[in-house]
Amino acid sequence: MEYQGKELFRRVGIPTPRGVFARTPGEVEAYIAEHPGSWVIKSQVMMGGRGKAGGIKFADTAAEGAAFAKELIGKVLKNQQNPDGEEVRSLLVEEKVAIESEAYASITIDRATKKPVVIVTSQGGMDVEEVAESDPDAISKYWIDPAIGFQPFEARQLAFAAKLPAGYMKAFPKILGGLYTLFMEYGANLVEINPLVLTKSGEVIASDAKVELDDNGLYKHPELNEWRNDGPADEDQAAAVEIGLGMSNYAKLDGDIGVIANGAGLGMGTMDAIRIAGGEAANFLDIGGGAQADLVKKSYKLVTGDPKVKAMFINIFGGITRGDQVALGIVEALKGDDVRKVPLVVRLTGTNEKEGREILAAAGMNPVETMDEGARRAVEFAKAKV
Ligand code: GDP
Ligand code: MN
Repeated sequence: MEYQGKELFRRVGIPTPRGVFARTPGEVEAYIAEHPGSWVIKSQVMMGGRGKAGGIKFADTAAEGAAFAKELIGKVLKNQQNPDGEEVRSLLVEEKVAIESEAYASITIDRATKKPVVIVTSQGGMDVEEVAESDPDAISKYWIDPAIGFQPFEARQLAFAAKLPAGYMKAFPKILGGLYTLFMEYGANLVEINPLVLTKSGEVIASDAKVELDDNGLYKHPELNEWRNDGPADEDQAAAVEIGLGMSNYAKLDGDIGVIANGAGLGMGTMDAIRIAGGEAANFLDIGGGAQADLVKKSYKLVTGDPKVKAMFINIFGGITRGDQVALGIVEALKGDDVRKVPLVVRLTGTNEKEGREILAAAGMNPVETMDEGARRAVEFAKAKV
């Protein structure tokens, strides 16, 4: 789905609007309340043409956002290609950008030549097949020789040939380069940006994302396997969805140290650090970006609900996630009588780190400075006889 495609876009350096994934009106409301401005509420379904099907709304206030979320969740979006429709179960809330123009860029495999073909048009926001019929000259194609790769000058030539507005030129080679990296690295059948927006302030941003992965490519990135399911496949995934996370955000493993981190990369790094310190993670829980105290609390409860867990390491790198919210969530979780408490190690860096540390200190906790130190302590705790 779009939010997953955009996660991959970010991995390869393609700019996307800032935002958050949400499953409930409450989450949408809380996020907009915290980040006042104009937001787009986008239904996360497999089908395209969501705009025309009524699956995309614009909200200027938290209350509006909540109302649209309520309207969209559970709604069945339909169009001609999808007469049965698809039920909306999750949303992406994204900063609304002021559009100067909309372009289209994709890479797919050309059946005839078996080579990757890049397709670019200045007619973004429309179905590319329609453009091919109504205005074939507006479409530029370029066949890539995989042995040679894709060069920035080729991207520039494509932009000229497709008559993209001048504002695209600077960013375009990097974006197409990222798209090609994604296509090859993940063994995709299709990577598509429609529209690729030039904003009024001159930025070039992928406003929509479509990534179709090939089964054969998935072995390289097993963490993406779960993306293919359309509903939780097991108890752990269901538990993650239950507390408002994505279903691939929580996975149980064999060890005895509970891990909560934000972002898959940091999570993997944390598990490695634990292994190097001589321990083994009991799970991996990615609280994602922008987590609020309540989600931190629920995550703590979920992880300690696993009886294998003997110690816990919470490792947060604050970007849109704020250290004070994480700290509040931890303190709240430890107050509850309904949670099992285990020795806890916390590392907080980045946004509102100082505030977070103060909250933890007031509750008698002392966060560690580095990931390695945190991993070492967590392993000591897990090995200590109780
Ligand atoms: P699709 O209809 O499923 O392909 O969904 P898109 O993400 O492509 O959105 C459809 C249309 O909504 C876009 O072509 C835009 O015209 C409009 N739209 C989406 N995001 C924004 C935004 O941030 N600002 C503005 N002004 N329009 C947007
Ligand atoms: Mn689109």
